[in-house]
Amino acid sequence: MGETIFAKIIRKEIPAEIVYETDTVLAFKDIKPQAPVHILIIPKITEITTTKDINGKLHAPILGDLFDAANKIAKDFGISESGYRIVINSGPDAGQEVYHLHLHLLGGRKMNWPPG
Ligand code: 5GP
Repeated sequence: MGETIFAKIIRKEIPAEIVYETDTVLAFKDIKPQAPVHILIIPKITEITTTKDINGKLHAPILGDLFDAANKIAKDFGISESGYRIVINSGPDAGQEVYHLHLHLLGGRKMNWPPG
């Protein structure tokens, strides 16, 4: 599978509204927000295209970094206490569009369940 748009965002070749960055993680506003807060949190490594590429032992540190970032961003955006949803779409039936692992951090409104 070829390079994704997120690789270009990591290299700052195309713009994004970056809200958080470390050596390993980048987070930016989704271009088509589905909630008042809609942040994409991605690893800077490109080898995990979807959840089925995850090897627990190998990738535990980066998965930890993604969730640490989500906790920090949720606090920064004031949704840590009200609640939020973290979504990972994996594969065609889930509607995954970009094959670079990403957490959707969604909040700022009441969510429905079950999801569509
Ligand atoms: P997926 O459907 O793969 O789980 O989610 C991909 C997400 O990336 C979508 O919510 C889409 O709006 C977002 N997206 C796609 N291209 C861009 C882009 O160039 N910039 C930003 N900020 N978000 C993007």
